[in-house]
Amino acid sequence: MTQKLSILGSTGSIGTQSLEIARKCGYEVSTLSAYSNVDLIEKQAREFKPKLVALADKDAALDLKGRLSDTDIKVLSGTEGLCECASFEGADTVINGIVGMAGLEPTLSAIDARKKIALANKETLVAGGKLVTESAKRKNVSILPVDSEHSAIFQCLQGKPSNKALKKIILTASGGPFFGKNKEQLKDIKPADAFNHPNWSMGQKITIDSATMMNKGLELIEAVWLFNVDPDMIDIVVHRESIVHSAVEYDDNAVIAQLGLPDMKIPIQYALTYPERIESPTEELDLTKIGNLSFYKPDTDTFKCIDICKKAIKKGGIAPAFANSANEQANLMFRNGQIGFLDIGDIVERVMQESPDIADYTLDDIHEADKLARELVKKYSEKR
Ligand code: NDP
Ligand code: MG
Repeated sequence: MTQKLSILGSTGSIGTQSLEIARKCGYEVSTLSAYSNVDLIEKQAREFKPKLVALADKDAALDLKGRLSDTDIKVLSGTEGLCECASFEGADTVINGIVGMAGLEPTLSAIDARKKIALANKETLVAGGKLVTESAKRKNVSILPVDSEHSAIFQCLQGKPSNKALKKIILTASGGPFFGKNKEQLKDIKPADAFNHPNWSMGQKITIDSATMMNKGLELIEAVWLFNVDPDMIDIVVHRESIVHSAVEYDDNAVIAQLGLPDMKIPIQYALTYPERIESPTEELDLTKIGNLSFYKPDTDTFKCIDICKKAIKKGGIAPAFANSANEQANLMFRNGQIGFLDIGDIVERVMQESPDIADYTLDDIHEADKLARELVKKYSEKR
């Protein structure tokens, strides 16, 4: 049966690669949505002919509505529009490629409507891990990881004997563009330097998160929720070549890893075809061309965001959501030239001292924590 896809964040790096797969596999695209990129989403809508299209930005949605008035495509706006796309009855699978915690509500809508979810939007799990996993369990919904490391772990866990046999997860990290540099060398880094990722071509926010290694901290939290493991069971290992996408170690010390060239089309496609595998447009891995694979311990003193996230998930409750929001704000302010590169970790760390103590949070609590965390980031950035 042809899959019918709802693609959230269709104009982004994950979204456009998802559309490449839809094109190649002949999947139907039922809905498309993004924030405000009217030109690209119009083009996508004309090619894939979805039933629904939504833009979070209301003015952009109005513009798009005018442009698509010669078609039967319905145009929606705002968070409600995104949620309508996520729960659209004509679709069976939702790919969430939205960036940031704006992806949380659409994920919850997709779960409510019992869609299969291919999740790239890691902030969904970092900010709302408890709400999302409880609701997915209640509705018997599968959340299939798209993030390459989590897809790798998921693949390594196929055929696992029992949860007890799993000793640890080895979460690999490229180390980003600043691997091996110390604080002194990083103090004058500009956004343009940080956008230069060695192995992956991604959206702006995650590229900066990779440079600060906040991305790996967020991924640690993502793994805790996806695989129901204790944070201490996750070892982060820097692997410069991004060929080993992650690994698991069992009680008998057997380590199983998943390898491949760094190309998101492999994990995106696997989330859609699981448990089957089909041909991929991605190049084959030739290990003899790669030659050497290297592994290092992360420098958590220079790249302090990893430990901030680890502390937050160990504290639990609203703390990971608070860390995520603080980072979203600090990441944005760095990209806008308002704070320095090292300020990101310093400010997020400072803001975490004021993280509210809410163990059993609701969606409203997450929104309130989000507001507070962003205000505090602005306050502490003024003092620099
Ligand atoms: P991009 O910045 O390339 O794309 C983000 C997409 O989300 C765009 O379609 C954008 O629309 C849309 N968007 C942005 N803000 C909002 C909002 N407030 N409401 C609704 N839609 C919004 O990001 P990526 O594709 O790189 O990343 C997407 C997610 O996938 C992130 O969570 C990231 O961490 C994760 N991920 C990405 C990987 C990658 O290789 N890119 C790898 C692993 C995970 P518009 O274009 O209109 O602004
Ligand atoms: Mg990743």
